[in-house]
Amino acid sequence: MKTTRSGKLFRRAARVIPGGVNSPVRAFRSVGGEPLFIARARGARLRDADGNDFIDFVGSWGPMLFGHAHPRMVAAVRKALRSGTSFGAPTGAETRLAEAIVAMVPSVESVRLVNSGTEATMSAIRLARAFTGRDKIIKFAGCYHGHADSFLIRAGSGALTLGIPDSPGVPRDLARHTLTCRYNDLGSVRRAAAGHRGRIAAVIVEPVVGNMGCVPPEPGFLRGLRRLCDRHGMLLIFDEVMTGFRLAPGGAQEKYRVRPDLTTLGKIIGGGLPVGAYGGRKKIMGMVAPAGPVYQAGTLSGNPLAVAAGLEMLAMIRERQGLYIALEHAGRALTEGLSEPLTKKGIPHRINRVGSMFTLFFTPDRVVDFESAGRADTALFGKYFREMLARGVYLPPSQYEAAFISAAHTDGVIGRTLRAHRSAVARL
Ligand SMILES: *Cc1c(COP(=O)(O)O)cnc(C)c1O
Repeated sequence: MKTTRSGKLFRRAARVIPGGVNSPVRAFRSVGGEPLFIARARGARLRDADGNDFIDFVGSWGPMLFGHAHPRMVAAVRKALRSGTSFGAPTGAETRLAEAIVAMVPSVESVRLVNSGTEATMSAIRLARAFTGRDKIIKFAGCYHGHADSFLIRAGSGALTLGIPDSPGVPRDLARHTLTCRYNDLGSVRRAAAGHRGRIAAVIVEPVVGNMGCVPPEPGFLRGLRRLCDRHGMLLIFDEVMTGFRLAPGGAQEKYRVRPDLTTLGKIIGGGLPVGAYGGRKKIMGMVAPAGPVYQAGTLSGNPLAVAAGLEMLAMIRERQGLYIALEHAGRALTEGLSEPLTKKGIPHRINRVGSMFTLFFTPDRVVDFESAGRADTALFGKYFREMLARGVYLPPSQYEAAFISAAHTDGVIGRTLRAHRSAVARL
């Protein structure tokens, strides 16, 4: 595979951008090699600067539920573009997007649009602290909630991949307010809640984790969190930045039938443009300025292009009959096919999958939390990643990221992926 142009672009980027990338997960640090620079994408396919074509399982880290450059998305953004890119004043389209979110996400009665998942989670935490009058929060090791200070404590995603789950620059005085519990371990939450009685504002959780690789909740875990939150007066925050609209129209809360107090959204609601949102019960959201005293603002929030993309995305989700069933089928066909040659060759592995998000872990053990994820053989994953890349399959460049299937991943695309996989496994 020729990568001359990507290499050149990377060296040029590294002179003016830290590490040559604008988000650490894009670097190929943990899998070896240098990142490919992308020229264009369509459907399930990516093309890099050297003209190499790939089947894409990153999907911009989640947003591309219908694949890249879907004609309806392109048309919707183009139409909005002609009317101006930003006004700094309200538009009717923002209300229509808020109405769509309220209609689709079970626990959301009122919602504020922001520009990223990070903004959504940091705003939700501020609101939870204000609403409860408490300072501490509980998060789970290996969960990632964006890069705000309170969350960079045993964080997942790029922080985990690069081995820096506790970032320097986070004031110790703030970090001590973040308590870390173990995912899928209600006992750890019970102990934290009892030990800090009356001082914990919220429990924030990825209802299905994507950021230490895909780790589903064990039966009863989410419901147990709901009960503990009710008992201790803590708000339950579902960070559905990744799972929102991916696992069901109403996200993980619809799939698992547990209602959080606050929900954060991102990724899919922007259809690939920068949008995030946080919402929940009216009584809580009523505290956000200018309705209430909790300050949160954004010059470009509710940006017309981003909102047009979001509206079209949610309309497509509502209109496409059988979308989630098709994604489930594609996901099952793919992961069953992945397992077979590995089992035959005696390579220990576990595949975690919920609907259209999955991770192939190179470990013999069940992966249910940060520690079990940490036992995966990342060197073997790196080798596998490179073999797949050489065969035209672009996986997330880390053992600790979920891969995504889109509606553009047809049977043919899945079949080609499995052929590449069999040939890659033969080289492991
Ligand atoms: C991606 C992600 C975020 C951060 O969103 P950004 O748009 O990257 O700031 C937060 N929480 C979860 C669960 C995510 O997957």
